Amino acid sequence: MLRASDLELIINLRKELHKYPELSGREEMTSRRIARFLEELGPNRLICGIGGNGLAARFCGSAPGPRVLVRAELDALPVNEENDFDYRSVNKGVSHACGHDGHMAVAAGVAKYYAEKRPEKGELVILFQPSEENGKGAEQVIHDPVFEALRPDYFIAMHNLPGYGKNEIILKEGVFAMASVGLIAALDGKTSHAAEPENGISPAHAVSRLLDELPRLADRKEFGSFTLATVIHARLGEIAFGTSPGHAVVMATLRACEDSEMDMLTDIAEKLVSRIAEEEGLKSSVSFDERFPSTVNDRHLAKLAGETAGELGLKVNEKKDAFRWSEDFGWFTKESRGLLFGIGAGKGHPELHNPDYDFPDDITATGVEMLVRLVDRLLEEENG
Ligand SMILES: [Zn+2]
Ligand SMILES: [Zn+2]
Repeated sequence: MLRASDLELIINLRKELHKYPELSGREEMTSRRIARFLEELGPNRLICGIGGNGLAARFCGSAPGPRVLVRAELDALPVNEENDFDYRSVNKGVSHACGHDGHMAVAAGVAKYYAEKRPEKGELVILFQPSEENGKGAEQVIHDPVFEALRPDYFIAMHNLPGYGKNEIILKEGVFAMASVGLIAALDGKTSHAAEPENGISPAHAVSRLLDELPRLADRKEFGSFTLATVIHARLGEIAFGTSPGHAVVMATLRACEDSEMDMLTDIAEKLVSRIAEEEGLKSSVSFDERFPSTVNDRHLAKLAGETAGELGLKVNEKKDAFRWSEDFGWFTKESRGLLFGIGAGKGHPELHNPDYDFPDDITATGVEMLVRLVDRLLEEENG
């Protein structure tokens, strides 16, 4: 299906994207590079500046039908790359350590295919979204007024997954990736001379209680499925041996399978912070950041993906449990039926977000073929 010359074209694009990675929200050059690639293909429409640096190409059939959206991500990570091939990152401290360069290449391959063979009916939208890594991009895209004209019946995306056999297709109906949110608890007491701590209100004891009690919230029996609370940062006072601290911050990442359980977890975490603060005579405030809803895969789409993988002779790995990490694709699966599936990047491949990670080019063709076949099947089906 994919010509060798096209594969070479998109792998070259991938390496170019890899060399010039950009952080979430700052993907201007990446966006322009992709725009140039898409412009040459001549889509029915190319829309730039969606939800920030996002862009979308529309490939329209001549008859009405469903609209399918394929999503790729533009952003890289604040990870200093430790590779020495010639296309390694030239931006110090920034690299495509999640393989979004490869996902963009795959989406570019899908665009190339439909540029030459428009769908008979319905429409394909290929979206390159910004800011996936901080959970902000998909939500920004959805809230952008231009998105109304692109709102699809189905959202589809793939993510490469190290630790799984190369080109294995990883599927799961229902919750694929867990919801997560960052909790920031600020505690305020009163500083005093370190020689007279009794004259101040130190948050030290409250901090130690939070470090101990926050992780244990997830074990509470009201949760029907796996939840997790991980303390990721804590700061108490300043480095000043003469001062007893008056301020502290504790941060934790909360995870849950269902959005409703995430609401419950954030609620009890907030109550825990205010109870401890009150007992310790402190003022407290709680805020949240980097909110990712859970990514929930549609049953029908998961079944079609399984069949498609079978047709391509690919091994299918049906997962029982949701991945613990989160994906901002969850914003899309809240909007319409959607599917995020994994493609194995190799069992011994460096893990995502690691400094020696690089997207394996020998899964690119699988990505393109899986997506094209899935899109074709969905466009052939009756509307919705
Ligand atoms: Zn990532
Ligand atoms: Zn990623």
